[in-house]
Amino acid sequence: MPFPSRGLTVPTLLARFVLVPFVLASVLGVQESPSRTGARRAGVDVLHYEFRVDFPARAWPDTIRFAATTTALRRNAMSLALDLAASMQVDSTRVNGARVAFTRPGDSVRVALPSGSNDTVRVAVFYRGLPTDGLIVRRDTLLGWTAFGDNFPDRARQWLATVDHPSDKALVDWIVRAPSTHRVIANGALVEETPEVGAAGSRLVRTHWRTARPIYTGLMVIGVSPFAVLELGETACNLAERAGCVRQSVWTSPSRRAAMPGSFARAGDIVAFFSTLVGPFPYEQLAHVASSTRFGGMENAGAIFYDERLFKPGSPGESLIAHETAHQWFGDAVTEREWPHVWLSEGFATYFAALWTEHAHGDSAFLDDMRRIRSRTLTSPITGEKAVIDTTLDDLAKVLNTNVYEKAGFTLHLLRREIGDSAFFRGIRSYYAAHRHGNALTADLERAFERSSGRPLGWFFDQWMRRPGYAEVDASWSWNAKARRLSVTVQQGGRFAPYRLLLAVDVITASGAVKRLRLTVPAQSTSTITVPITLTANPRAVTFDGDVSFLGVLRQ
Ligand SMILES: [Zn+2]
Repeated sequence: MPFPSRGLTVPTLLARFVLVPFVLASVLGVQESPSRTGARRAGVDVLHYEFRVDFPARAWPDTIRFAATTTALRRNAMSLALDLAASMQVDSTRVNGARVAFTRPGDSVRVALPSGSNDTVRVAVFYRGLPTDGLIVRRDTLLGWTAFGDNFPDRARQWLATVDHPSDKALVDWIVRAPSTHRVIANGALVEETPEVGAAGSRLVRTHWRTARPIYTGLMVIGVSPFAVLELGETACNLAERAGCVRQSVWTSPSRRAAMPGSFARAGDIVAFFSTLVGPFPYEQLAHVASSTRFGGMENAGAIFYDERLFKPGSPGESLIAHETAHQWFGDAVTEREWPHVWLSEGFATYFAALWTEHAHGDSAFLDDMRRIRSRTLTSPITGEKAVIDTTLDDLAKVLNTNVYEKAGFTLHLLRREIGDSAFFRGIRSYYAAHRHGNALTADLERAFERSSGRPLGWFFDQWMRRPGYAEVDASWSWNAKARRLSVTVQQGGRFAPYRLLLAVDVITASGAVKRLRLTVPAQSTSTITVPITLTANPRAVTFDGDVSFLGVLRQ
């Protein structure tokens, strides 16, 4: 999901339906506690959307015409309710080509389905209006007007008739008509760009984009603007799901073109790094688009939208590009099945951006990133009040917070230290491979790591993900000269219950050598642990957490 915009000062299918196995993967998985933030429609599985969007050839697109056709696998449902803002005016609906009556309960449009079960139904909704959200249409003094989709988390319904929930992923065809002054970017691969003549001889372009992989509604977007397009060329060759390379490009307004490619010069390396670490790049291409998104960056599948104000020399920075690019795997290809598990998207993007730092800029820069992530975790009130997996979440306006970004990102780091690099990355790869183009819950990830490490990890996920807080530790050491024994005493507790921890202990020996050991500290209020080290003399000093893998308040 999105990287929050904290102002600008702080980075603050049927050939296509043969993909049914991917779709089925999305309904498998593990149940956890029920979500209060919606679910897929019972008895219906959307396979495909075709969105036709017609912008008028006028100075201001006061009315946009839409035709949204949903193709769904119907198990036993006798009606289909699609989410669609009440402010959009529905003209007509068709089911399997036949005109039918509709009703408009709340922000939805409902049609009756013909009798049947286990079949495929096609529901077309014809409507119009000027969306007030979801599709952000703005006047622009230089460009006339621009329009950018900005759907996260559940704002697709503001302009697209859909089953607007992350658990029901589908393929998309975008067929957009816009004035020839504008170009259209969208998810997927470009199928055609064809000049057309509209009313009164107006010049239009019909642009068709098509995805070959199912995505969720929060990521289904178009951008319509008089773009300047800078090709970054073929990147990450032989590292994509589809044969060949990953074509990347930067889409911006002509006035901001001069500042590009900036950090996007590293975009190829970033995709290559994550492809090697996780699995092949999942989509047809990757465009980096200057847009009017409310977020700093929004990871729309195959077409990342950034806040256009970031398109200036030296910005957006590599961390933001790496964060949004990591989402193409985590959040986009593997999507949380329920909103309370959004950390599977944001925590991963946060940590993988830090992993890019480690890869590109070395260990010290990586540890600096982790210190920043920890500091935000400890200074945000919500980490002490709510669990990362917040089953009480009932307001999607609150779905994004420090828990799901920073605390969850740091928790992945703790897990890596706990089970070691090889088991950690093996677990990541198997989790990704099992759920790509589908959905997952935290328990799916937990199982992948249990398999890769051969260890039970329920305790780990329970203490870090399913309860609020962080560790509060007083650590001290003592040297028994007679027994030549070094002991560490850890006292825990205060606001939160004790944690089971892995604590790095650096022993500076009498000769000045530094020896690092990791001690397992049990989840109890006081523990005294003998350090397994042979010393011949009193150590000069003992320090803790030299490797920045402690999440909490440490007094030593
Ligand atoms: Zn994000």
